[in-house]
Amino acid sequence: MKFMIASFLKEKGISYYVLEETLYFQCLFCYQKAEMDYYTSAWHCTKCPENGTMFNLIQTTKDESQPTAEGPKKIYNPKIEIYKIKKLFMLLIKENENTSSEKKLAQLFEKVLDLIEEVNL
Ligand SMILES: [Zn+2]
Repeated sequence: MKFMIASFLKEKGISYYVLEETLYFQCLFCYQKAEMDYYTSAWHCTKCPENGTMFNLIQTTKDESQPTAEGPKKIYNPKIEIYKIKKLFMLLIKENENTSSEKKLAQLFEKVLDLIEEVNL
């Protein structure tokens, strides 16, 4: 089931990410964040009243009259944001090498890494 869900979303160009047992994806109806149980495929939107399973999602994308997921918004993906934050910190530390800010930045980076680990993303 896991593989099927991921390949379906990829094929349809629907933005998604996985945290532990939950898959978050862009709702096909309102483009906000929806949550899916990665094992059963049961899902519900966090903003609009839509819900169902993997199979009604496939049905929805087949029905031309329904809006597609190609909306302008992307859901907030914490994994990508963490990657960007780490990259920016490393760049800033490099840029501030041998300055008084270098140590402060390194300490701040450490704190952020601890925080990321604490919230388990
Ligand atoms: Zn929705």
